[in-house]
Amino acid sequence: MKKLKNILKRKKERIDLKYIGLTYTPGLSQHIDKCIENHNIMIGHKPYNYCKQFFTTLRPRVKHENKTHCIYKFNCQDCGACYIGNTEQYLHERIYQHDYYVRSNKKSTALAKHSIEHASCI
Ligand SMILES: [Zn+2]
Repeated sequence: MKKLKNILKRKKERIDLKYIGLTYTPGLSQHIDKCIENHNIMIGHKPYNYCKQFFTTLRPRVKHENKTHCIYKFNCQDCGACYIGNTEQYLHERIYQHDYYVRSNKKSTALAKHSIEHASCI
C-alpha cells in the first residue's frame, strides 16, 4: 500500500519514473524494492515460470512441402537466374510437375524452358 501511495504521489508530481522488468525471486525482490524505493525506478516482477512452458503447441507444424497457396522461388545454380512462382496445390506436387516437365523435355513452364535450353540445374 505504501508503494502504491508513493507511485501516485510521484505521478502527481510528474516525476519521470523508469520501469524495469525483473524475474521475481522470493525474498530478494522485496529487498530490491526497498533499496530503490527513492530512486524513481519501478520494478515489474515477472514470474519465473509461465504456463505456456508446460504446454506443447496444439497443432503439429506443417512441412513446407505439404503447404498449399505458396509462393516459391528457385535459383539457377549455373547463371544466377531465378524463377518465382505461386501455386494453390501442395508445394511438393508443384515441384514434382516442374521436375516432370524438365525430365520429359516439355517446355511448358519458364522454369522447364530455362532448364532445358541452358542445360542448367535449377
Ligand atoms: Zn540458368
